[in-house]
Amino acid sequence: MPTVFIGHGNPMNTFARNRYTDAWRKLGGELPRPAAIVAVSAHWYSPGTAVTAMAKPPTIHDFGSFPQSLFDFQYPSPGSPELARRVRDLLAPTVVREDDKWGLDHGTWSVLAHMYPNADIPVVQLRIDSTQLPAFHYEMGQRLAPLREEGVLVAGFGNIVHNLGELDWNDDARPLDWAVRFNDAVRERVLKRDHQPLVEYESLSDDSRPSIPTPEHYLPLLYILGAQSDNDAASVVVDGIQNASISMLSVVIGG
Ligand code: ZN
Repeated sequence: MPTVFIGHGNPMNTFARNRYTDAWRKLGGELPRPAAIVAVSAHWYSPGTAVTAMAKPPTIHDFGSFPQSLFDFQYPSPGSPELARRVRDLLAPTVVREDDKWGLDHGTWSVLAHMYPNADIPVVQLRIDSTQLPAFHYEMGQRLAPLREEGVLVAGFGNIVHNLGELDWNDDARPLDWAVRFNDAVRERVLKRDHQPLVEYESLSDDSRPSIPTPEHYLPLLYILGAQSDNDAASVVVDGIQNASISMLSVVIGG
């Protein structure tokens, strides 16, 4: 099974038909149908590693001022307590709490609503431990790699450049120069399988700081890169900068 990183961007992409969501739909149709999905979302970032272990994960609406339609949206895919236990075992000796309080957040469902609109594939979410350094998250991805042989799609949902302070809500806003440069630098290294500078992203360039003011939207990429095997190629699903300072770069590995 390939592994994917998707730049999810604005939560309203849930309902939008644009070149990003069209690419997500096409990808969902082209990938082998997953037995289940392990989702690493930027929006579950707090101390300690955890995995959603409930049979029916609730749809979480983890945002502020958006239209009521977004709060009403439901993505009722089943969970998988069995897969949650498998994830826990694979990540040992890291302690992984089996969670019964979270669910699926918009980082996950704003994309899966397009990739798998029938919501009929079991999904578990993995919490990003906010106390850990980047190399830890890359290693978590390495430990999850065996899931790919079991038909499980390991998917990261974040954004390689994510600066809300510089955001421009106009859909045709001109991308900021540093955002374009940093996005290009990351894409080039992903395609060359040059992982070390991506793990050490803080020293990648002067553009790292404005591009990644906080790490939660970038770190899902490291899980996906960690799960890449030596003979997997990486390719771009869709690329671009939305709202001036949000990278929508999405990549598939081994696809
Ligand atoms: Zn987000």
